[in-house]
Amino acid sequence: MTGAQFDRVQLNRRDLRQPFPAGFARRIRGQTVRALTRRGKYLVAELSSGDNLVMHLGMSGWFRVESTPTVTRRRDPDVDLEHRHDHVVFTMSSGMTVTFNDPRRFGIMDLVAADRLTEHASIGKLGPEPLSRAFDAQVLASRVAKRRVSLKLALLDQQVVAGIGNIYASEALHVAKLSPFRLASTIATAAGAPRDSAKRLARAIKDVLRRAIAMAESDRYRASRFRVYEHEGERCVTPGCRGTIARAWQAGRSTFYCPVCQR
Ligand SMILES: [Zn+2]
Repeated sequence: MTGAQFDRVQLNRRDLRQPFPAGFARRIRGQTVRALTRRGKYLVAELSSGDNLVMHLGMSGWFRVESTPTVTRRRDPDVDLEHRHDHVVFTMSSGMTVTFNDPRRFGIMDLVAADRLTEHASIGKLGPEPLSRAFDAQVLASRVAKRRVSLKLALLDQQVVAGIGNIYASEALHVAKLSPFRLASTIATAAGAPRDSAKRLARAIKDVLRRAIAMAESDRYRASRFRVYEHEGERCVTPGCRGTIARAWQAGRSTFYCPVCQR
């Protein structure tokens, strides 16, 4: 998309998780993508108009990028079924078609003026990027020092650290050998300085994310890439640990953990 212009913007419905902003297609059409970046779980396309096209995959959203678009043939029931959830179709001047498909429709597409991005209700409040230098044990500790919530929920809070979801919160806590149920504030001193646990956790978050990104580029993407996620009832992989991975519910989300080595 970078460097290409939007030749055509097709919306197949009025909303995703929220309605498309007024004039959505009109404000995008004819604009060139200056850069495609990411902040937390948001994809941001910077447009030549000064608008930012902000996109979020939600739970089930994904993009299909094709050089030859798959045209929906109305009389082909298989194609119709597969493409039923194609909600937005961008035709780029490069000849590529970028289609947003989202069966559960928790995804988001919004337009935000570049100079308003820091005031945006979600993006403006995001915490530091976990793989950046701006994120370390010190920053993590200071951000959770006053939190009276469990450590797992604090990690899911995008204002503490950006971009960590349910799976990688569980994975990082297992690597750091920290219980998902302990109070978030226990990894910081009263003054907000990092304890050893905060150092382990900050390191674990970076390790887990870097490994996931490396695996995304290999064939092992889906196969056995997690330590605890969906490994309920299996032996813990921590060396020397004889625990069994358990599953619990926290704020409506499943947490996988080892009750023996995670303290
Ligand atoms: Zn264990």
